[in-house]
Amino acid sequence: MQNMVILGATGSIGASTLSVMEANSEQYRVFALVANTNVDKMLEICIKHRPKVAHMVDAKAANQLKLQLPNHLAVEVTTGEDELLSLVSSAEVDTVMAAIVGAAGLPSTLAAVKAGKRVLLANKESLVMSGELFIEAMQASGAQVLPVDSEHNAIFQCLSERNQLEIGRCDLTAAGVSHILLTGSGGPFLTSDLSTLSSMTPKQACKHPNWSMGRKISVDSASMMNKGLEYIEARWLFNASAEQLKVVIHPQSVIHSMVQYRDGSVIAQLGNPDMRTPIAHCMSFPQRINSGVEPLDFFKVGQLSFLEPDFNRFPCLALTIEACKQGQEATTVINAANEIAVQAFLDGKIRFTDIAIINEQSLKNVTADSLTNIDDIIALDSQSRRYAFEAVSKLN
Ligand code: NAD
Ligand code: MG
Repeated sequence: MQNMVILGATGSIGASTLSVMEANSEQYRVFALVANTNVDKMLEICIKHRPKVAHMVDAKAANQLKLQLPNHLAVEVTTGEDELLSLVSSAEVDTVMAAIVGAAGLPSTLAAVKAGKRVLLANKESLVMSGELFIEAMQASGAQVLPVDSEHNAIFQCLSERNQLEIGRCDLTAAGVSHILLTGSGGPFLTSDLSTLSSMTPKQACKHPNWSMGRKISVDSASMMNKGLEYIEARWLFNASAEQLKVVIHPQSVIHSMVQYRDGSVIAQLGNPDMRTPIAHCMSFPQRINSGVEPLDFFKVGQLSFLEPDFNRFPCLALTIEACKQGQEATTVINAANEIAVQAFLDGKIRFTDIAIINEQSLKNVTADSLTNIDDIIALDSQSRRYAFEAVSKLN
């Protein structure tokens, strides 16, 4: 029996994780559920899954939850940053699903890594921000990090067993890998007329052709910022160089990514676009469990197609690849600026095309002397947020 904590339990990944756990309840126990403010959803999942602890980051939300939870469930309600960090590090916890959205997920994800837990990593932003420090912490504690993001999970499945055991320090060249082919659907605006992009609404941006996800990652998919963040994520998880990483547009989202070997072989992982597959894979690795996902029907799929990314259409992709070349400072800056810009777009304050403008300006103008620890990273993240806030107000 594995005791699991779900960080971001009320979100899209949280729901998929609970669904896989429910289908395999003889192997997994919901030890703790963590969320920000959504009391109604937290109440619903507490009643259904009966965790030992329910943690709300928002203190008011924690009080409301306490009042609404039936006493007989005996769920302990907690709040507070220190409480959250000790919850994920608790000796009773085996596995942590890191699925808080954005930079807010960094402290708790890193605490799980430092405590040597088995960490199922969905929160790509934490790796984008802390890259090297994250991998170092993982090596120091012996934590096992397994990639939930569907592309990275696919790449992981296409690598040798030896590489799978060396996350963060794989020697891809020695393993005969020539390229990691990171696939992406191109999102809802892949074929829209370029002149219409500036008037696209949040609703249009969130309408992903293949995946159902939270709003922030949906906007990131429309701008392909998501693929840029994933490029950085792949750089760290697989110790890959810029020469080894290639982005391929694959509109059907059936192939979730591929690994190309020196001898001409290409190994791909395929499946229906449903996050329960990579979640189940990470939960049970190296075994396999049922995920509840329909088997892939090749006759329904019919055709698979591939395109080269157009950086004119997707400037955020070009910017993040550039940030990755510049290093950890630049990736922290662009990630923070993007969070502010995406929220401003979702709030109707800026246009879709302004996201890339704000990201570019922040990347150019926000700098730090050096990043030696997590506090430096969080300070730089705040600095970039302040800059992006101002840039948003200037565009208003
Ligand atoms: P979501 O918006 O549906 O859910 C976000 C969760 O994070 C919620 O439970 C919310 O309460 C919690 N949260 C938000 N702010 C918080 C804070 N300040 N402190 C603590 N908790 C907070 O998001 P999602 O789509 O489930 O994505 C979660 C993460 O997984 C993101 O990093 C995303 O990039 C990654 N991811 C998602 C998918 C997907 O299909 N949804 C795929 C790959 C990776
Ligand atoms: Mg992904």
